[in-house]
Amino acid sequence: MVSGGAGFIGSHLCTRLLERGHEVVAIDNLVTGSVANVRHLRSDPAFTLIEHDVSQPIQIEGEVDYVLHFASPASPIDFPSMPIQIVKVGTLGTYHMLGLALAKGARFLLASTSEVYGDPLVHPQPESYWGNVNPIGPRGCYDEAKRCAEAFTMAYNRAHGVDTRIMRIFNTYGPLMRTDDGRVIPNYFRQALTGAPITVYGDGTQTRSLCYVDDLVTGALAVLDGPDPRPVNIGAQDEVTMLELAQIIKRVAGSSSEIVFRPLPEDDPKQRRPDTTRAREVLGWEPTVSMEDGLARTLEYFKTALSVTR
Ligand code: NAD
Ligand code: UDP
Repeated sequence: MVSGGAGFIGSHLCTRLLERGHEVVAIDNLVTGSVANVRHLRSDPAFTLIEHDVSQPIQIEGEVDYVLHFASPASPIDFPSMPIQIVKVGTLGTYHMLGLALAKGARFLLASTSEVYGDPLVHPQPESYWGNVNPIGPRGCYDEAKRCAEAFTMAYNRAHGVDTRIMRIFNTYGPLMRTDDGRVIPNYFRQALTGAPITVYGDGTQTRSLCYVDDLVTGALAVLDGPDPRPVNIGAQDEVTMLELAQIIKRVAGSSSEIVFRPLPEDDPKQRRPDTTRAREVLGWEPTVSMEDGLARTLEYFKTALSVTR
């Protein structure tokens, strides 16, 4: 069972789980996902999509071995327009998915986030860092809901013995991101491919480390199959500034768009890169797709999605 299975990461995850021979039930209310993301799976008898808001209770017939909770809007542009839904899916949604895992005796995987570290004062971020989050700022609805989701997960692990896993996902990109998602990769590619100005927020010195989605999904399955409930960072090591990224995407897309500067959103983290020692040593996981390669594959997707012919 994959909540958020019609989203960007969730749909890639469903595809990989079906390839592993699992039956997959995706549950999604399509608030930021799309049926188009799983259209290629609809003819597979092992795949089912249920349209449902997981912040509401749900009953599932039959056996369930794994509950993977990936439902949540994740782009900062969604935070001001649906903060209550985001708090609910991180808290009530997690509660319902944990309840399902408990009832079915299933292993539970939470898609947590690097946002639990907020605007980090420790760099790179190890799992032992408790973070620097503004609970009442515009990102608080997402960051604190995910922190609560982790607390809920550990409470069910300790109180009910649910077999839980937590992955902290760092910035991930690739095919099937919405072209109007608002996150940096879709924005830069859309702008570069349509000749619009490429919008760098602030002075562009803030950094991110960008993980290609295939590596992320391999990491998710490694965490799921892993030995213990401790959180594991999954993300890439190639740290770039957002100005460098604009220049790279402009070059990769062969674009003549100008690069322009726009105001930095409130509480935008200044630097972010995971310490992935635990993933490497405990799970044997490391990213394998280079940024050049990942961006080239993503370019092809955005060209098709935007119907750009050149
Ligand atoms: P996405 O918006 O493409 O996917 C989220 C999916 O969840 C969508 O299909 C959406 O319709 C669904 N959803 C949202 N609320 C729901 C609800 N109440 N009930 C049922 N379905 C609901 O985003 P994504 O980037 O694929 O993110 C997937 C997960 O990974 C999220 O939990 C997100 O917090 C986490 N994550 C993603 C990143 C990243 O860089 N992509 C980084 C950190 C964490
Ligand atoms: N960003 C940017 N221009 C854009 C979109 C985003 O400069 O058009 C910056 C944003 O300010 C942040 C970084 O890119 O510093 C990553 O933003 P994103 O929304 O992808 O994810 P975040 O890591 O902030 O959750």
